[in-house]
Amino acid sequence: MNLHKLILTENDCYKRQKYITPKGIMLHSTGANNPNLKRYVGPDDGLLGENRNNNHWNRSGVGACVHAFIGKLADGSIATYQTLPWNMRGWHCGDDANNTHISFEICEDNLTDENYFNLVYQEAVELTVYLCEMYNLDPLEDGVVICHSEGYRRGIASGHADVEHWFPKFGKTMDDFRQDVKDEMELNIDNLTDEQLVQLYSKMITALGKLDGSIYSKEDRDWAVDNGYFQGDENGNLLWQVPLNREQFAVVEHRIHG
Ligand SMILES: [Zn+2]
Repeated sequence: MNLHKLILTENDCYKRQKYITPKGIMLHSTGANNPNLKRYVGPDDGLLGENRNNNHWNRSGVGACVHAFIGKLADGSIATYQTLPWNMRGWHCGDDANNTHISFEICEDNLTDENYFNLVYQEAVELTVYLCEMYNLDPLEDGVVICHSEGYRRGIASGHADVEHWFPKFGKTMDDFRQDVKDEMELNIDNLTDEQLVQLYSKMITALGKLDGSIYSKEDRDWAVDNGYFQGDENGNLLWQVPLNREQFAVVEHRIHG
């Protein structure tokens, strides 16, 4: 997630200064073909780009406000902007869910670009993981992670179609979204790629490399170093608690038996 912060302090919703205890997260999408964050978030912070119409939401009279937007920066890359304190009462669904749900808008494009969809979908998954972890929420619990149209069917949001008019075009349901959030929260080792596993193992080695040798082995370690059998890494760190792999074993064997 590429998270930035620009609180919409001039929006009337912010000025109302009402707070909630977040019980869930509601997804929205903007319903207008404009994927640029600067349409909604401003003024320009050097990354957003300038909104020449000056119609972003950081002003009074907008009548709506969400906690975050996902869309494009001026350079075309995807970012998330936090636009309200997470526990402030937002004006996002015109009904009861304003009192319970954190809200974010995904900026819509023309809803035909699969690449843009995949990028903002993943960004939305990561933002939802972040918020679920912050507020100790289970994304699979009933009613916790919902979109605006699901909120309407539950009687806690006004009648809008987002995001169910968009996600299914690219094969994603809200159930998929909730499961993707859950999967990211629970590091499932079966889902890791070879590359990710190697990365994990490298991190383990780095962590183990910071540990000292044990006292019982001191004499043997000194012997190994004095004879040049172990020479440590490029920084001279001898990595005593790091397991020896097969190529390192061959090197040490060769040093000992020549
Ligand atoms: Zn909505």
